Amino acid sequence: MAHLFQVDRVRLLCSCGLPRPITSIYFCRHCLKLRCGNCVSHEVDTLFCPNCLENMPSTEARLKKNRCANCFDCPSCGHTLSTRATSIQAPNPDDSSKTVARKVYYLACTSCRWTSRDVNLSDQTVATGGWAEQDNVHYKYLQSLLEHYRSVAQREKVERERKRSSFRKSSYLSLSEKFSLSSTSMIGRKSLSSFTSLTSKGDPGLISELAPCVAEEEVDGLPDNIFTEEVDLSKVTTMDQRMASPEWQPEETDCLYPLHKHILVKRSLRCRYCEHNLSKPEYNPSSIKFKIQLGAFYHVPEVRMVRQVELKSEKETNVQISLCNPTPHDMTVTLLPFVPEAYLAAQQKGEELAETASLNTSSLVRAVEIPREKEDLSLSAEVALPQGQLVLAARDDTAEYDDQDSNSAYKDDPQVVAWRRANKVGVNLLVTPRADAARAVVGFILRYDYTNTVATATESRTVTLNMPVIVDVGPVEKE
Ligand SMILES: [Zn+2]
Ligand SMILES: [Zn+2]
Ligand SMILES: [Zn+2]
Ligand SMILES: [Zn+2]
Repeated sequence: MAHLFQVDRVRLLCSCGLPRPITSIYFCRHCLKLRCGNCVSHEVDTLFCPNCLENMPSTEARLKKNRCANCFDCPSCGHTLSTRATSIQAPNPDDSSKTVARKVYYLACTSCRWTSRDVNLSDQTVATGGWAEQDNVHYKYLQSLLEHYRSVAQREKVERERKRSSFRKSSYLSLSEKFSLSSTSMIGRKSLSSFTSLTSKGDPGLISELAPCVAEEEVDGLPDNIFTEEVDLSKVTTMDQRMASPEWQPEETDCLYPLHKHILVKRSLRCRYCEHNLSKPEYNPSSIKFKIQLGAFYHVPEVRMVRQVELKSEKETNVQISLCNPTPHDMTVTLLPFVPEAYLAAQQKGEELAETASLNTSSLVRAVEIPREKEDLSLSAEVALPQGQLVLAARDDTAEYDDQDSNSAYKDDPQVVAWRRANKVGVNLLVTPRADAARAVVGFILRYDYTNTVATATESRTVTLNMPVIVDVGPVEKE
């Protein structure tokens, strides 16, 4: 039986209709809705090397091909290479008959023991840098390709601008188009003139003279010894090793060369509907803290399965879940029945209205339309939910040291609340798997009072929210 973790078992339904675990979903305090990775815009904040933690602006990173100049990865296993120091005997410059000890540095992998000496790279006299770059024989050709595609991109941009301006009806714009004063002027005179010369000739070709590649029937044959000589697998590189350096694609292990480490990014996430930040890391790469972190984990009551129970087809079983209040305010919670189709239809209607009203696609927010995946939201079991309301106590970090039972403060209905501990309560659900179901999946709507801490004069501080929750209760035993 495949064992699933809590994050796979209990999922919240995002406002876009995708089920996501509470650990990978955000809660926008301004829209009061759940937002997943699909409905936020991702922005790059910091580019940095994960090894030396040096950060750099994006232009510099692009020049360095998004790789760190000083840190290397092992070409054999991908682990970070470390610099090792050793001393060698070198001839004394004053007296050639004597030798002196000199400190030299080489790169070594602590994981697979590959060293730069394996491929006859000469040792360096300084600890960092100094490693000769490998020359790419195709450098010129690649450069001309880049140039070519840059001009293709520019031409497409000009065309797009034209199309856009031809749609507009204002007299000002038609004039500006006449004198080519539209925003195309910022692309640069050179590309614009080349574009006009192209269109006047009606030639679909490009400015750069790049002969397109032609497929050849005749290719070089295999080397003669390939069928006669025995293959030594330890000397042949794997596909991964080859593809790690696409420019050279070494076939033999003695041609492996240290790889510059890839740069990583820190991103901030922004709600696409209200433009507020949902997650913003600290700028400094060495910090793992966030300036803003609106994970649903801090704002939405967490639902967990308490223990695995045996389920039988069409047989009512008691399943316990726990609810946990992560906020510093008391919460009133009600569990309501959930019908996916009806809920999604209503949600879509509301979202479409909101989209036309407020979906921000300004240049500030880089909105990438991600096609919506179709997720299977079908529920395979009936669930009898406890009636009535229950109160979730506020989170109190000192509660776990408290020996005293504070349960008596709440007049709980034993029909609803199975147990209570600090800000958690256990709730019994009665689950009845359907006849043909292999797993019992139930859904309910978690209705709770959320105390909004965003200080706005117009909004009321406490609002009632409905969060659909989908719980995979477990496999159903066949009789
Ligand atoms: Zn979403
Ligand atoms: Zn680095
Ligand atoms: Zn290695
Ligand atoms: Zn929002």
